[in-house]
Amino acid sequence: MTKKEYAKILLPGLKHTKEEYENIYPERNLPENAIVTRFAPSPTGFVHMGHLFTSFVANRFARQTNGICLLRIEDTDTKRTVENGIQQIIKDVNDYGIVFDEGAISETENIGEYGPYIQSHRKDQYQAFAAYLIENDLAYPCFMTEEELENIRKKQEEQKIRIGIYGEYAKYRNITMEEALEKINNNEKYIIRFKSPGKFENRIIAEDAVRGKIEFPENDLDLVIIKQDGLPTYHFAHLVDDHLMKVTHIIRTDEWLSSLPIHIQLFDSFGYKRPIYAHLSPLTKKEGNTVRKLSKRKDPELAVSYYHEAGIPTEAVKIYILTIINSNFEEWLEKNKDKNFLDFELSFDKVSTSGSLFDLEKLMNISKNFISTMQASELYERTLKYTEEFDKCFYELLKKYKDYSIKVLNIEREVARPRKDIESFGSVKREISYMYDELFTNDNTYYEQKEFYDKELLTYYINNVYDENDDKDTWFNKIKEMCPKFGFASETKEYKNNKEKYKGSVAHVCEIIRVATTKRTMTPDLYEILKLLGKERIKERIEKF
Ligand code: GLU
Repeated sequence: MTKKEYAKILLPGLKHTKEEYENIYPERNLPENAIVTRFAPSPTGFVHMGHLFTSFVANRFARQTNGICLLRIEDTDTKRTVENGIQQIIKDVNDYGIVFDEGAISETENIGEYGPYIQSHRKDQYQAFAAYLIENDLAYPCFMTEEELENIRKKQEEQKIRIGIYGEYAKYRNITMEEALEKINNNEKYIIRFKSPGKFENRIIAEDAVRGKIEFPENDLDLVIIKQDGLPTYHFAHLVDDHLMKVTHIIRTDEWLSSLPIHIQLFDSFGYKRPIYAHLSPLTKKEGNTVRKLSKRKDPELAVSYYHEAGIPTEAVKIYILTIINSNFEEWLEKNKDKNFLDFELSFDKVSTSGSLFDLEKLMNISKNFISTMQASELYERTLKYTEEFDKCFYELLKKYKDYSIKVLNIEREVARPRKDIESFGSVKREISYMYDELFTNDNTYYEQKEFYDKELLTYYINNVYDENDDKDTWFNKIKEMCPKFGFASETKEYKNNKEKYKGSVAHVCEIIRVATTKRTMTPDLYEILKLLGKERIKERIEKF
């Protein structure tokens, strides 16, 4: 029996050869330094910041070099794969404007010439590559049972030695074809292992675009490459896919760093050029004096859905990712205020290697600043969209009073120092609810009665002083003029110097008007608010106060 025939028996159903697959996928015709990279999530149902982080960064590198970023779905671990997981991840990244040049666009469809881009649809390709290894004595069937493996692990733990299948533990490393065939005829189950040519005593040097040169012991583990279900393990799929898809850069989180010796060895075994690796630090969080990885269980802000539900603009999240990923971004942004943040050129050597501290407060600050630069009409539209999903009641009001709402949102907006009270689309309602009678009536949460709140003053103000046609200066001068009549000082300074003579100053009078008309002690420009409310509604509110 030839080795080829043997491989076919070990991998039943095999349709093509490695060479055939190599010929299907042409070299890419791209500029010399173009980066071809990929985002390769597993559809486990939980889309997190790490996904957004990696996919956005990978996309930026591809864009800025006129390269390619593809989306590959890594679903070979069928136990972890969930229903709709693929759709969910595609939707979430697309919501962030992260688009791929190639890849899966749904559970069944792909775009691009290097597909299919869903690993479970590429079974034959992995097997063809495994067959090549078997033919070249670099892979073998392993018949060890779960129990045997478990015993080896226990023994290694007891002896405090390296865990894994290597050296004397690689029981079937030298199995002959005849022995293997006999076991197969006896219906014994097997998987395919890589026959590692490495020695643990040898050192190898790997190059990482972020970390530079890293030294490792050579890999000597006989790793599983094809599992019992015929699907590959992560390591093997990485080799086959990234080779066939002509990927030049592997941008991924550093949980894979320790597997680098395996990956390099696989590429070397096939005689393929190694791709460039760039391992990104995990997102961490400060907790007291310690820094730890963000955790699904403890940190709701790890989930991408958190930002969607809170109505944080996707741009703010992306700006924040850029501030984490490249230490020089903030300085650049400060100097290039008129530019789009996507004009910033990322570089690998500015990527932090020591963990990426995730600070939600900072992100909210960025969000506030970003919203402050938005035009009122855009803020209106995006808030409308947000409320349609999350706050139907407010959505109806925004829709009903469209022009009015835009004017409300425009208060203190198109000015040198725009208002920064709105931190998300989800907080718009909180900041402007008093401008809607429907919400104002039941809103009692924002003020407490103070001694100087004077109903008579308010009645006098609305009946004898307030004039909708006044400009801002006249409006304010009129308030000042009426101050003495009610025992308040027209000037703050005068009040400060003679506190015993007055109940307060013009600032206190404004507070009375503000609280009566908005039930809040802090709002944006009162003059604008009153103008938008109109005399009738002000009167009504004062009467009810
Ligand atoms: N499927 C792997 C993960 O989700 C991809 C890692 C990689 O980008 O190579 O972690």
